[in-house]
Amino acid sequence: MAPPRKLHIKSYGCQMNVYDAQRMVDVLTPEGFVETASVDDADLVILNTCHIREKASEKVYSELGRLRQARDEAAQNGRKMQIAVAGCVAQAEGEEIVRRAPVVDVVVGPQSYHHLPQLLARADAQGRALETEFPVEDKFGFLPQPAPATIRARGISAFVTVQEGCDKFCTFCVVPYTRGAEVSRPVGAIIADVERLADNGVREITLIGQNVNAYHGDGPDGHAWTLGRLLQRLAAVPGIVRLRYSTSHPNDVDDDLIAAHRDLAALMPFVHLPVQSGSDRILAAMNRKHSAADYRRVIDRFRAVQPQIAFSSDFIVGFPGETEVDFAATLALVTQIGYAGAYSFKYSPRPGTPAADMQDMVPAAVMDERLERLQQLIDRQQSAFNKAAIGQTVDVLFERAGRKPGQIVGRTAYLQPAHVFPGPGMAPDALVGQVLPVRIDSLERYSLLGELAATPPQHARPLAATGA
Ligand code: SAM
Ligand code: SF4
Repeated sequence: MAPPRKLHIKSYGCQMNVYDAQRMVDVLTPEGFVETASVDDADLVILNTCHIREKASEKVYSELGRLRQARDEAAQNGRKMQIAVAGCVAQAEGEEIVRRAPVVDVVVGPQSYHHLPQLLARADAQGRALETEFPVEDKFGFLPQPAPATIRARGISAFVTVQEGCDKFCTFCVVPYTRGAEVSRPVGAIIADVERLADNGVREITLIGQNVNAYHGDGPDGHAWTLGRLLQRLAAVPGIVRLRYSTSHPNDVDDDLIAAHRDLAALMPFVHLPVQSGSDRILAAMNRKHSAADYRRVIDRFRAVQPQIAFSSDFIVGFPGETEVDFAATLALVTQIGYAGAYSFKYSPRPGTPAADMQDMVPAAVMDERLERLQQLIDRQQSAFNKAAIGQTVDVLFERAGRKPGQIVGRTAYLQPAHVFPGPGMAPDALVGQVLPVRIDSLERYSLLGELAATPPQHARPLAATGA
């Protein structure tokens, strides 16, 4: 039997890329590949790239420069290293990648990962292979399922893609061009994925999609199901204790989703709802198709059914034409909503998007200064949110043993890391996958520190029973 070939994947960007990297591993495992953490001993290196901002996509070329050296060293030792570029830069720049970096063997767009084995073989035979079409077949039907041992090794929390692509065409964004039109997976396929994950120890599912709440997959009843309805069904899968979804668009928040937050204990009260700007003028120029007041109303609908709910968001500062008055409206919106956290970015013109042709660019120094002010405000809100947990007893889903001996790490409903020492007689590993109440004593940077608030339930195996 041939020795396994070693695969190293480096992912940039969003959760979708993290998930896609796992699916590429699943495609290549039956081909005899095993993952390696090091580039130097890899037979195949895949850069799973992000094109959302210029900085992200330029990183690929500097990384390819470093990979050329690693590949030369491998060749000197008589070993062949193949290099593939996947993800959204592959989709957007295709041939350009090979022109700028001839070291690349395979360029593969996000819709074609199921063709990776053929593309690698073609590159072997012909020197290079490129596929950035949107194939007619649904890749999900062709992507192999991970083995039970692989699912277990990946931990108790998993992403499941339910929707891909976007039809919104915000004027700054490349996603509709790199990921294509909105497509929803059928309900039955998603339930099967989630059941399989749950059977193999997964307790928390995050449904992902570029525009996840535009989900409208075919249901078993022949009708299109909404995200809310899908969540309702998935909450009934035995073993699943937490459900999340990301990323949502304010205009696609419908009554079913609000009802899901009212009715489902498993649906976490933490929603990522990007707004981008608080200025109606800028929101219109961004083609967001909602005003700041519309966004506030959506937030109020969530809060009306779920008082514990908290929000995070994305913001862009320095969109073309953004004045100090527009920016002040963003700060006012942030102040009014009060976020548990948020991402904020300087506007980056992306080739081929409408905003890239807009005049009235905001000077770099002004962008820097606005970003700094916005981030300070968000940081203050995030610290206040985290500090508010001190003295409270909160549910923590335990994920893994901590770095310190005897410590266990989990997350709260709001994804705050929580560190606990369960004490003698309780093996940290035995708590993995359980939701237990934790009394929070203190805060260390972004992590909460606390202790178990109640005796763990019967099914938490004590130290003696594990033999540990
Ligand atoms: N679909 C989601 C939405 O509607 O907000 C997220 C898409 S994108 C992967 C994540 C974030 O990147 C966006 O919310 C936006 O804040 C930011 N972003 C997208 N294009 C950008 C650009 N050209 N410059 C700066 N930030 C950008
Ligand atoms: Fe990009 Fe707008 Fe679609 Fe989000 S909704 S992926 S920001 S085009």
